[in-house]
Amino acid sequence: MTNSAFSSNAAHSISSAISTDPDTIKPDTFHFMLPPSQRPTFIPLKEELHPAFGWLTKNRSRSRRRDVFESIDTIVIHATAGYATKHAVDTWKERKASAHWIIPDENETEHGHFIWATVAEAKAAYHVGHVDYEPILGEGPNVNDRSLGVELVNTQNVQYFRDPYSQWQIEMLARIVLYAWAKYPNLRHVISHAKLDPSRRSDPGENFPWEAFKHKVLTHSVLEERHPLVLEANTSTVTSETDSLNLAVTNRAGHCCEP
Ligand SMILES: [Zn+2]
Repeated sequence: MTNSAFSSNAAHSISSAISTDPDTIKPDTFHFMLPPSQRPTFIPLKEELHPAFGWLTKNRSRSRRRDVFESIDTIVIHATAGYATKHAVDTWKERKASAHWIIPDENETEHGHFIWATVAEAKAAYHVGHVDYEPILGEGPNVNDRSLGVELVNTQNVQYFRDPYSQWQIEMLARIVLYAWAKYPNLRHVISHAKLDPSRRSDPGENFPWEAFKHKVLTHSVLEERHPLVLEANTSTVTSETDSLNLAVTNRAGHCCEP
């Protein structure tokens, strides 16, 4: 796990949940395109390899039919319908299922700190079993061969237990999309599982704030500003060359903005 200014931003928004209006949220309409002209440059990801990463990559994924950088044009948003990462991983082991990342829920110790990488991006994970309407993505191979899959841990109101998504979860999801957009030159579609398979799936569910998420991605607003201390370094009471150097090093390491 690495530290960065990004984590302090995340930390102070951990406790706030995003409210949505269930009457207007329809997960089977969630889909937007990434405009090539706004593609970000390299974005680091705060991820840890899940203890099951090796097993899942070996046993719950397959080789992509083409080169990974050529293949990936879609990222699919899922939710687990449970309240713990462990439940999702156990289910994947029992069934033939998987995804590339899991974003933990508020009651998990990883929440606010890092996301789990669960399958290698180079491999096709088994996250979309069936597609009702393939032409949504245009011509191309099977959805799993051309996509990355992200799971958010969320109950999706199963048994009437309302479980809003946290700000941190939405920020991590936006950050994964920006990371992948920067890395994979053909990535265009950001889409819900529900839109791909509306007769069987409703994830990420009616609590998911799609418009807020889309805005964060398209405005790159979850990324820390570049060189935030340049002005401060020029105008504050830096007393020696060494202090100035330390400040620059601290800034580059991203430890500058802890509250
Ligand atoms: Zn799903």
